[in-house]
Amino acid sequence: MSSILDDDDFGGLSLSQRAMMAARGPVGTRYLDELNPAQREAAETLDGPLLMLAGAGTGKTKTLMARIAHLITTNRANAREILAVTFTNKAAKEMKDRLERTPFHLPDPVRWMGTFHSICAKLLRNHAELVGLRSNFTILDTDDQIRLLKQLIIAANMDEKRWPARQLAGIIDSWKNRAWTPEHVRGAETAHFNNRGSELYAAYQERLRTLNAVDFGDLLLHMVTIFQRHPDVLADYQRRFKYILVDEYQDTNTAQYLWLRLLAQAHRNICCVGDDDQSIYGWRGAEVGNILRFEKDFPGAVVVRLEQNYRSTEHILAAASGLITANRDRLGKTLWTADKGGEKVRLIGHWDGDEEARWIGEEVESLSRGTRGLDPIPLNGQAILVRASHQMRAFEDRFLTIGLPYRVIGGPRFYERQEIRDAMAYFRLAVSPDDDLAFERVVNLPKRGLGDKAQAVIQTCARAAEAGLVMGAKAALQQGAITGKAAGALRAFLEGIGRWHAAVLDNSDHVRLAETILEESGYTEMWLADKTPEAPGRLENLKELVKALEGFENLQGFLEHVALIMDNDKDQSEDKVSIMTLHAAKGLEFPAVFLPGWEDGLFPSQRALDESGQRALEEERRLAYVGITRAEEICTISFAGNRRVYGQWQSQLPSRFIDELPGRHVEILTPPGLYGGGFGAATASGFGSLESRATKADVYNSPGWKRMETRATEPPRPKARTVTTVDSVAFGIGDRVFHQKFGYGEVIDLEGDTALIEFEKAGSKHVKAGFLKPAVGLDDVPF
Ligand code: ATP
Ligand code: MG
Repeated sequence: MSSILDDDDFGGLSLSQRAMMAARGPVGTRYLDELNPAQREAAETLDGPLLMLAGAGTGKTKTLMARIAHLITTNRANAREILAVTFTNKAAKEMKDRLERTPFHLPDPVRWMGTFHSICAKLLRNHAELVGLRSNFTILDTDDQIRLLKQLIIAANMDEKRWPARQLAGIIDSWKNRAWTPEHVRGAETAHFNNRGSELYAAYQERLRTLNAVDFGDLLLHMVTIFQRHPDVLADYQRRFKYILVDEYQDTNTAQYLWLRLLAQAHRNICCVGDDDQSIYGWRGAEVGNILRFEKDFPGAVVVRLEQNYRSTEHILAAASGLITANRDRLGKTLWTADKGGEKVRLIGHWDGDEEARWIGEEVESLSRGTRGLDPIPLNGQAILVRASHQMRAFEDRFLTIGLPYRVIGGPRFYERQEIRDAMAYFRLAVSPDDDLAFERVVNLPKRGLGDKAQAVIQTCARAAEAGLVMGAKAALQQGAITGKAAGALRAFLEGIGRWHAAVLDNSDHVRLAETILEESGYTEMWLADKTPEAPGRLENLKELVKALEGFENLQGFLEHVALIMDNDKDQSEDKVSIMTLHAAKGLEFPAVFLPGWEDGLFPSQRALDESGQRALEEERRLAYVGITRAEEICTISFAGNRRVYGQWQSQLPSRFIDELPGRHVEILTPPGLYGGGFGAATASGFGSLESRATKADVYNSPGWKRMETRATEPPRPKARTVTTVDSVAFGIGDRVFHQKFGYGEVIDLEGDTALIEFEKAGSKHVKAGFLKPAVGLDDVPF
């Protein structure tokens, strides 16, 4: 243990402070004793820029937390003067949990610890007027954003079918990720969207301002703009945030990078930690190059490398390290672990997806009981990490059937549900009656006789009055433009909004208010009267929503939380196995990890396979690396020979990543129902060649396999995967797509230029592929 009276640690402290620290004794720096020398250096080098670049499980997050402990213990900064940011909600939560477990006295919570987006949302509330907003601005989600863009595209006389709003949204996001305001869009970029992209971007920003709304990208963009244009505001925050710490730095985009650089440039007390091999958000504009830029922008930065992995056993680490060497574009590093031995990475092939889910269910149970001499691994210590969230269903179904408690992590889906979004629109109106998008969504929901015609009248009156829709509606009533029953309904609706808003301003009990809103508006009633099979579930969800409100101070706080799509698994304490996407698992660790669905087209995804060049494939491989390195003791990779998608069978080839695993560190398990080692013999020949992959696949299609399969399943009709290309976008079966008229759905079949889609709301339909767009990344949104 080093002396806690080390002068270097106590620069700037008075003698009495030093004496106090000394009196605290060795306990004061116990968090340092838990670190190895390199980690310790990183935790103790408090002043000036520091970059910690190291592989998975080497203690980056742990060291970051020790650093916070050290900053506070040495009185360098108090908890309010520390800014600690990361990229995903899950990683932010992990930081908070870890800080709690760090052995030191934390007098106040570290308030400024969270994701870039949540911190920027807080800051922007204080300075909204500097970018023409009011502090109660609404944060739009993707759906609202798309609807808004669509209106603008139509207003610009463009054909919305040829030039879909979703595509424009992607373009605008990519500009915002680079911190470009409309004026910044120049050169070749202006050619986007039929040369109208930048013009529409400007119109969109203007419209957002009128609506007092921001989208996700704006949270960062506005703060960067404010910092750049208002040096006084920036200087204030530079003073406030004396020390800046960034976890998962490899996933920052340019806007986030600029934001950090602005905040840190005065005192340069910035510490970033990351791993280039775990950069998995390139599709959202993350720039691994930011790691390389760091040393340039902060000359003299101390760079610490950590090589000892404390998380995983030898085989798991070796398997992951072996896999990632197939990536050409990486900085390269070596990792070792003192945890020798342990189980090899387990690989198992299954007949189909259902069987994979069944086997995993049984395996989770037997691991939780303790098996083969292993200590029992509680369900909380086990996770199933999937590439695409549609894979989750099979596990949910299975676990429900066998009564295995599980939690699905990845909050967005709950908040994406129709009834939840409707209810939220009501809440939004209560908080800001001038939220026109919310108004549009619920003005005739439940049906009040305020259909398209009445709404058009309201729009016209609003435009004439140069005001929002609430004002427009009032004007319509005054002018007698809406009469009869509709007028009565509209009046009641407006009165409702008025009452609810007054209740919000009065700070009345928001949970009670939420219930009142849902009752008075007739929304709950609507579902009670609904006789479709989904209605009871929807009512359950609404109850769940009201329950969720209890954890918040007021409606606005809750709306903000949801807008940032925090995931919301409150019952952490209960023992449950976790199901989540690989993207959501970053930074986490579990004693046992299951990685199902390692099949070409699923993982790596079809989109990555179709893209020319290595970029997308390398990102998928990093995702695989992230997956394996989440495991501490047991890592099980699996694939299925057949998958059923909405009743249609599809034969699958094992993932190319399986062949890239070093065979020495992999144990092949015999699938259930298969005796005599046919499969084992075929695969034991080794990994690393396409040939062996074909051999494995052949096993599934061999008659022997089918004979041994005892289940009463129709032998699946092997079906080649067809891919149709539209506007240079390729779709595969199972992809999530978006159709102008029918909304979101999944590709079931492709035949020529026609696709069979199972739409979420409209049921299954044959549509021309030309009218489909990929539903980009919604599944993977981490916030
Ligand atoms: P990732 O890249 O996956 O985010 P990381 O580098 O942030 O990983 P941590 O999560 O901080 O790694 O650490 C991995 C595990 O190793 C944790 O359980 C942590 O407590 C443990 N660990 C880290 N350093 C040490 C150490 N010096 N002694 C003992 N355990 C350690
Ligand atoms: Mg970490």
